[in-house]
Parts: sequence; structure tokens; C-alpha cells
Amino acid sequence: MDDKLMLMIPGPTPVPERVLQAMAKHPIGHRSADFSAIFAEVTENLKWLHQTKNDLLILAGSGTAAMEAGIINFLSTGDKVLVGTNGKFGERWGKVCAAYNLDVQYITAEWGKPLDPNEFKQALEADTAKDIKAVIITHSETSTGVINDLPTINQYIKAHGALSIVDTVTSLGACSVPIDEWGLDVVASGSQKGYMIPPGLGFVSVSEKAWKAYETANLPKFYFDLGPYRKNAAKNTTPFTPAINLIFALHAALGMMKQEGLETLFARHDRLRSATRAAVKAMGLPLFGPDECASPAVTAVMPTGVEAEKIRSIMRKKFDIALAGGQDSLKGKIFRIGHLGFVTDRDLLTAIAALEATLQELGHTGATPGAGVAAAGEVLNR
Ligand SMILES: *Cc1c(COP(=O)(O)O)cnc(C)c1O
Repeated sequence: MDDKLMLMIPGPTPVPERVLQAMAKHPIGHRSADFSAIFAEVTENLKWLHQTKNDLLILAGSGTAAMEAGIINFLSTGDKVLVGTNGKFGERWGKVCAAYNLDVQYITAEWGKPLDPNEFKQALEADTAKDIKAVIITHSETSTGVINDLPTINQYIKAHGALSIVDTVTSLGACSVPIDEWGLDVVASGSQKGYMIPPGLGFVSVSEKAWKAYETANLPKFYFDLGPYRKNAAKNTTPFTPAINLIFALHAALGMMKQEGLETLFARHDRLRSATRAAVKAMGLPLFGPDECASPAVTAVMPTGVEAEKIRSIMRKKFDIALAGGQDSLKGKIFRIGHLGFVTDRDLLTAIAALEATLQELGHTGATPGAGVAAAGEVLNR
């Protein structure tokens, strides 16, 4: 049915009506006092969400733009970097680094497994010459639903002295990422994930240590040169025309998040993750990736006996529920349930009920119909 689509994918995520209405306003001049007042409040509230006093810069671009900015502003041609990859996004950062002729050393784990912090420890301890300038890691690997042990890896980075450059695109807003407490240097994310607004904004937070590196970094940059963003942010403005209506949207969304509170926000995502996993198990479907490192944003399922793409197709056609598929080598093998951003218990119960009906239609015999909803309900009632 028209206008019934329910997004249960890990971005773009659903957008609250209050946010849509804020976006629907006429744009205002971005050099006006009215805009500056909104921009100042948005920046302050973003710092609250990011738990940081570092500079928090807003770019017009998707999450990849924020990551690319995070890389090119603090490194120089030929710099050695350590990139952790255990999925599609980790691989992407390797590609960005290669595009700028950085000397990339990889630490890899199989897709569906977490990165091993000890491998970072060993590689960093072995680098007594301090050639490694930065370590680049994806916190929540959206392609597999695995969250990497960022705090532990970051301790090794700090002991070494390299910069940490982190993709928190699907962890920020879903779980606590205390940037200052952990001492993360460059943290990048994007608006269409945990921020409850449409795609189009990227966010980068930058530590003092990273700004020091900025002074000597020589990679080419213009639009994403963060220096001018920092200068302008101090005057509550931007170097170029910002995505004004997305800033309106973010203003409204951050207001909702402040109302909910950080602890409640993170607890909600934690509950949704647990309920989803309990339901999937009760439906007799194998989870892709272990419970101990399950992302709060997305759950990957590797069905046996029923085809992942058939499940997605029925969910979409019959129930207007969009689930995500697998990427690259996981295409057709897994499907992913997003539970990030503006998602409530009701949404999850609806999706699980529809999934059970879909499995029934496909003749899946692994579980009693209703077991998934019962298992999810049990977790949500705790
Ligand atoms: C969505 C996402 C990105 C950014 O992708 P864009 O399409 O550029 O917004 C980066 N990293 C992760 C882990 C993501 O989930």
C-alpha cells in the first residue's frame, strides 16, 4: 500500500513526523542571525550526543564524505596507516587510503567476526620507529552486524601515539561512544543512521592532537578542508552554503534525543538488539555473528532452508517492510534487520510478526509460529 513503507534497514532510517515538518519549512539565509542561532544549538547538542568537547564539524555529504575528510585532513602522502577490516566498510576505508596513496597495512578478520584487539597491539608494539601515523577502524560494521572492541583497540593506539580515525556511522546514537573519555581523535558519522534525519550530512569530531597533525598534513583537499569549517564554526556558521533544511531537521531530531536522554536512548537500542536476536533464534534461523559482538544497530541473519532474498521480497511486497540484503560475497546469503534510530518496540514486534508469516508462507518448519514474537516480547517486557 502507498505510504506504508516501514524501513527496517541500517540506513536510511525512519524519520519522525516532527523532523519531516521541520524540514519542510522555507530555507532561510545561512548568513542570518536566525540560522546562526539554530546552528549553534545544533552543534552544542551534537557535542552532547557525541560526549565530547572537541570540535564537531558538520559537512554536506554522506558518511563516506565525513570519513574521507577524517583521513585527508590529518595525513600526508605515503604515510603508513593501519586499517582494520572485517566487512564492507572497513574495506572502503582501505580504498579511500589507497586513492590518496597512503601506505596501508591491514588487520583483517573474517566477515561476521570481530577484529582481534591483540593483532593491533602486536602491530603497534612492533612499530618502534613510529611509522604508523593513524589507525582506521569501523566501530559498528554495518555489513555484518558486528561491533568491534573499539575501547580496547584504542588503548593500544594511545599507547603507541598514532591517531585514531574511527567510523562510528552506525554506533553513534545507538550506543555510548564517549569520545573524550576514550580519547578518540577523529570520529566520523552520517545523518541517515542514528540521527533520525535523511541522508546528506556528515559529522566529524576532531581532537587537539588531530589538529596538530592537520598543521603538517599535505594531502590535497578543498571542499573538505576542515580548517575553514573550524574557523567558521567558532562564529556559528559554515564556509559554504550548508544543507539548511537538513540542519532544521537535525535541530528537531536532537531535541527529541535530548528529551529521551542518552541513557534511555542507548537502553532502547540495546533492548531492540536483544529482542531481535532472541526472536531470530526462536524462529529457528541462524544469526550471522556471535552475540558477544552484536551491533546495536543491525542484526544479520543467515537463513538455512529458506532463501534470504525470497524472505526480503515477501516482506517488501506483502508487508511493506524493507529489510537489507547482504553485500558482496554475502549477497543472497544473509538479510539484515535494521533497528537503529527512530525505531520502537512496536516496530520490532511488527517486523518479527511479519517475518514469521513470511517464513510460514515459505514453508519454513524450524519453529512454532508465534515463537519469535513471544521471544521478542519476553525481552521487551523485562
Ligand atoms: C552507512 C555507513 C557509512 C556511510 O555510508 P554513506 O553511504 O556514505 O552514508 C559508513 N560506514 C558505515 C559503517 C555505515 O553503516
